[in-house]
Amino acid sequence: MAIEKRHLVCVVCPIGCEIDVVHDGSKIISMEGNKCERSEEFVSQELVEPMRVLTTTIRIEGSRWPVIPVRTGKSVPSRLFPRIMRKLRGINLQAPVNMLDVVVRDVLGTGVNVIATRTMRRE
Ligand code: SF4
Repeated sequence: MAIEKRHLVCVVCPIGCEIDVVHDGSKIISMEGNKCERSEEFVSQELVEPMRVLTTTIRIEGSRWPVIPVRTGKSVPSRLFPRIMRKLRGINLQAPVNMLDVVVRDVLGTGVNVIATRTMRRE
C-alpha cells in the first residue's frame, strides 16, 4: 500500500491534540503532535474504520417537549450515521421515558443500543 500522510484531531480527551500521522493505509508508521499514547488506538481505528458516538434527538409524544435527546451507548461506525439518523427519524416515542432507557435496541445490527440522555415525564 502507498505511504500517505493524514492530519487528525484526537477525540479521546478534551485536549484534542492535532496529530500528523504517516501510515500505509492500515498501520501507523509515525505520529507527531499527540501528547500521550492513548491516541494510538484511536488513530489506528481511524485509519481502518472511524467510530463515533452519535448524539441526536427522537420525537416524543405526551411530554412537555416534542423531542428527547439520545445517544448511542457506544461508538458506531461513522459511515452508518446517515442510515441510523433515517431510522431514528421514523420513531415516535411515548412519554414517560427515563434517562438511560434503551429506546432502540441493536440499532442497524451494530450490537449497540440507542439510549435516552434525559428523563421526560408524561404531561
Ligand atoms: S493524544 Fe492524549 S492528550 Fe492528546 S487528545 Fe489524545 S488522549 Fe488527549
